[in-house]
Amino acid sequence: MSQAVLILIKPDGLKKSLTGNILTRLSETKLEIVAAKMVRVSKELAEEHYKHLKDKPFFGDIVMYLQGQLYDRKKVMALVYWGKDAIKKCRDLAGATNPEEADPTSIRGSYGRITTIGVYENAIHVSSNEPEAEREIKLWFAPAEVIVDLYPVKEIMQKEVINKIWAKREGKND
Ligand code: GDP
Repeated sequence: MSQAVLILIKPDGLKKSLTGNILTRLSETKLEIVAAKMVRVSKELAEEHYKHLKDKPFFGDIVMYLQGQLYDRKKVMALVYWGKDAIKKCRDLAGATNPEEADPTSIRGSYGRITTIGVYENAIHVSSNEPEAEREIKLWFAPAEVIVDLYPVKEIMQKEVINKIWAKREGKND
C-alpha cells in the first residue's frame, strides 16, 4: 500500500553534515521524494509537532532541540517520502528512539547520541503511523509544495495577502 511519511533531518544531523549520508541510507528504500525544503523552526511549529509529548518532562528540551536552540545551526530539512510501506521502511532504517538502544547499523544507532543534559539527539524524525504522517505533512507543507496529490485540497481566493517576491538589486539598471 502506498503511503506518505514525513522525514525531518534534525539540527544535529545538519550540524554534523549528515544530510548526504542520511539521504543515501533512505535511498535504499527505493521510495520517491515528493517534497523537500529547509525550515527555520518556530517554537509554535516545534510544540505542535511534538504535541503528543507535551506532558513529558523532556518536552521543553525536545522543542528547543527541534528548533536548533542547542546549536548555531537553527534549521531542519523536511522531506516527504512516498511509496509502498513507506513508514515501516523508513522507521526500520531510522532505528529505535533511544540512540543507545538503536541497532548500531541504523541511522540513529550510527549517528545519534544522548547529550550530557539527557537529550536524545537522534538525527532524524520519521512519522510513526499513517494518521500522524498526514497530520505532520499538513503541518510542515502546503499542498503546492508537494508534487503529488496526497490529500484532498480546496481552492480559496486570497485577498490582501502579503508575499515576498524577488526584487531588483539596488543600483542595477536591468
Ligand atoms: P520517535 O517517533 O522515535 O521520534 O519518538 P517520539 O515521538 O516518542 O519522541 C520524539 C523525540 O523526543 C525523540 O525523537 C527524542 O528526541 C525525544 N525523546 C523521546 N523519548 C525520550 C525520552 O524518554 N527521553 C528523552 N530525553 N528524550 C526522548
